[in-house]
Amino acid sequence: MRTGIEVEEARRLVLDGVAPLPAETVATVDALGRVLAAPVASGRTLPPADCSAMDGWALRAADLASASRAAPRRLRAAFEVPAGGRAPRPLRPGEAARIFTGAALPPGADSVVMQEDAVAEGAEVAFVAAPARGEHVRLAGEDVRAGDEVLAAGTKLGPAQLGVLASLGRSVVRVHRRPHVAILSGGDELVEPDEDVAGGRIVASNAYSLAAQCAEAGALATNLGIARDTREELERGLAAGLGADLLVSSAGVSVGDHDHVRPVLEKLGCRLVFWGVAMKPGFPLTFGRFDDGRGPLVFGLPGNPVSAMVTFELFVRPVLLRLGGQRVLTRPVLRAVLGETLRKNPGRLHFVRVTLAREGERFVAKSTGNQSSGVLRSMALAQGLLVFPAAASELAQGATAEVIVLDADVLAAPEPA
Ligand code: AMP
Ligand code: MG
Repeated sequence: MRTGIEVEEARRLVLDGVAPLPAETVATVDALGRVLAAPVASGRTLPPADCSAMDGWALRAADLASASRAAPRRLRAAFEVPAGGRAPRPLRPGEAARIFTGAALPPGADSVVMQEDAVAEGAEVAFVAAPARGEHVRLAGEDVRAGDEVLAAGTKLGPAQLGVLASLGRSVVRVHRRPHVAILSGGDELVEPDEDVAGGRIVASNAYSLAAQCAEAGALATNLGIARDTREELERGLAAGLGADLLVSSAGVSVGDHDHVRPVLEKLGCRLVFWGVAMKPGFPLTFGRFDDGRGPLVFGLPGNPVSAMVTFELFVRPVLLRLGGQRVLTRPVLRAVLGETLRKNPGRLHFVRVTLAREGERFVAKSTGNQSSGVLRSMALAQGLLVFPAAASELAQGATAEVIVLDADVLAAPEPA
């Protein structure tokens, strides 16, 4: 097992060999956010026929070649084609057919004049301008042709992609399976949110933040509850999660007398790949795998609420995204100006919880306050994690630094008045 490794090395180790999960078939209506496991080719042509893009009159452009305001040209009103309807017969020269948006052009017609540019006069229609041939006509196949690959494998399904699938008649779709995550909390001091906190007990809030982080990353989380600080209870709890794709525990990975997670994982047959990442918050992160490939990837996250969330963000989230088939595994990163001077001891990479405020073209980052890894409120206020390089001991006010944007809404936020 390796220890005290760099953040980048830890990211490489956790993602090593991780591939998208196998495909499953789901209802297209439920597929928002999922990732296509196979390309989608069209079996149909869209629009299926040349059709009108306007409410108006279908006609032959050549019939109106001489039309002008001074010398309007009149055509015989022949018949009507509603959307979804069919022309009773081909359009003859000298005729116009009343037509509505989306209706197929009658054979013989080649253009549409919108109704605002025509005046119905009994059995005739008067036109005061000559349309270009093909005007206001949507050509068959201008959207999709039968046989086209319309969506590539690996496409993330958003509203437009779901609409395209529906228009192709695909009410079900093959997507990568969502990862299953089992979450275990460990600690004698922990209770559920509605339990008694007398005697200095605290709520096992990590199960809530971690499950939400799973959901945001497209995973399905199961809460295994709280295990007391005994090897037996931890073993029972961790064993209950061995059927998941990922087993995520929090707490009990430090060097205290009651930190049993690592030995119990090894007893269960998990090979610990590393323990300890040179970062703050989150040093005691441990990661392991089952070499026969039949167990989950295992993350022993630190118990401190901020450490648990930040290590999840940096190491668990990218694994979940890749398992779900996503190609983009990182958050947006921007360069922000420091609104205040930050200091630390050199040695470890720090992730500083910051707010981001737009000032003209730049963003100004300020600490959300007490950066203790137990202060979850400073995480709740954070819009980004500022990367304070390992070797640095000071980032001066006015200098710039990279910030991992946790809340993409800040990018859209207006400048304060
Ligand atoms: P440990 O890693 O067990 O030493 O825990 C570190 C700190 O995190 C302690 O203050 C714990 O009380 C706290 N902690 C552990 N597990 C949780 C949890 N599930 N939710 C919130 N805080 C926790
Ligand atoms: Mg503990």
